Amino acid sequence: MNEFNELDEMYREVILDHYRSPRNNQPLLEPTKEIESNNPFCGDEIKLQLKIQNEIVTEIGISGRGCAISQASASLMGEALLEKNINDSLELYSSFRELLTGNLSEDQLDNLGDLLALEGVKKFPIRVKCALLSWSAFNDLIEV
Ligand code: ZN
Repeated sequence: MNEFNELDEMYREVILDHYRSPRNNQPLLEPTKEIESNNPFCGDEIKLQLKIQNEIVTEIGISGRGCAISQASASLMGEALLEKNINDSLELYSSFRELLTGNLSEDQLDNLGDLLALEGVKKFPIRVKCALLSWSAFNDLIEV
């Protein structure tokens, strides 16, 4: 993947770390909701399980396969969503989407934390779908 080599080195480290050691990758025994989603443009697959209690995401199980950006993004998403309430999570999704389409405002920037590692992906529109796969799966789960 040539695009990958053009990403900022520090960000690349974060992405590779999450790709090689995905967080929250244990399946949940009793998820509240689960969904499987794929990105046919790249062959990425994600299975996302959530346990939600009192509007808070208390457990996350993520498994999948595909390119580094899709899998790292899913892992980063899991870390970002854990212990967050649903409204804040959806706000974060919208900030992350704006980050990747280049429309992010200054105060949204502060909330993103490690998710900023994926900012460089905005230069490669075809990869934006990879980075958003897990997030749109999350959004679908919540909106059902
Ligand atoms: Zn991909």
